[in-house]
Amino acid sequence: MIYLDYTADTPPDERVLRTYTDISARHFANPNSAHSDGKAAKAVIDNTISDIAGMLGVQPDELIFTSGASEANNLAIKGLTFANRRRGKHIISTFLEHSSVSGALTFLQEQGWEIDLVNILPNGKADLDNLRSLLREDTVLCAVCAVDSELGTVQPIAEIAEILKGYPNCRLHVDATQAIGKTAFSFAGADTVSFAPHKFYGLKGCGVLYKREGIVLEPLIHGGASTTIYRSGTPDTAAIAACGTALEIALNEFDLRRNYVEKLNSELRTELAKMPQVRINSPADAVPHILNISVNGIKGEQMRELMDKHGICISVKSACSVPNTPSRAVFAVSRDRKNALSSFRVSLSHLTTEEEVGEFLKALREIIKTNAK
Ligand code: PLP
Repeated sequence: MIYLDYTADTPPDERVLRTYTDISARHFANPNSAHSDGKAAKAVIDNTISDIAGMLGVQPDELIFTSGASEANNLAIKGLTFANRRRGKHIISTFLEHSSVSGALTFLQEQGWEIDLVNILPNGKADLDNLRSLLREDTVLCAVCAVDSELGTVQPIAEIAEILKGYPNCRLHVDATQAIGKTAFSFAGADTVSFAPHKFYGLKGCGVLYKREGIVLEPLIHGGASTTIYRSGTPDTAAIAACGTALEIALNEFDLRRNYVEKLNSELRTELAKMPQVRINSPADAVPHILNISVNGIKGEQMRELMDKHGICISVKSACSVPNTPSRAVFAVSRDRKNALSSFRVSLSHLTTEEEVGEFLKALREIIKTNAK
């Protein structure tokens, strides 16, 4: 199979796997235990957390480890709003969010919170004038992704943080799951930030929530203090260490990887522009790893099945979303329901070869010839 779905998941780097197996074998003791082996495991966690904090330019006690970005998003969104429920019950977000953000917001809406979604401009960016007009004294949360998973649009987080300075009750949560390893991302200005290493050649089952010092969260998982009061349970020493390795590699090899993926993306766009049935939905300045496309007359789900028959893995919307419904993100930029229903995502990696891109284009031409209107 040719794998072009690196936005959904990436293969773990061998160096990450080595860290995981090494630490699992050597430091299996519970890091919450007070004996010497427990303390040694806790030291591995503390050292990794301080390395990660150094790489991200944040403080070690601002990092909380979770089971993935979905849990990190839920912890941030529910944790911030429950802790601030006496300040207000108004939340602002966007049409581009992952289901772990939009689902948490729907849950809060059912509990009495009011949600407004910012308009998305045709270039894929949140409409900042619209954001200004939606903000209120009782707005307690603005949740925006740094990069969305369907189109790869990069949101103006620094400008949003600047606007929110005028609203001291409002916290900014940034879902950076698709940003880390794909674009330069600064934690400055955000109150909470989520991400997960399986998106950058690390392991599944691990996620991170950055929580700026002084920000109070209601935990989702109550219990003992563990390594943090914000998430009870036995921390996974090996998963945390492996996350550190994955992050270090992603940052060290960022330029090399990104330059190569940019080249592949531009070659792909050049070829797609020659096909009149194809519409490219990702804006030109989206991260090069994500390319969202529609083919007139072929539904996204049908395209996924046809590509699968050609031995190619692509995806429709994000892996966790409801099938056979138009993409909210593609509709937000194109305002075209049929186009949103036809959209699908090709995602590239530094591991993708020119030959694989060639095979994808060949399959696409054949599919268009036999199926498109
Ligand atoms: N946020 C974004 C933008 C994502 O793309 C994803 C996964 O695709 C998630 C959150 C959820 O991540 P996880 O699978 O680690 O829960």
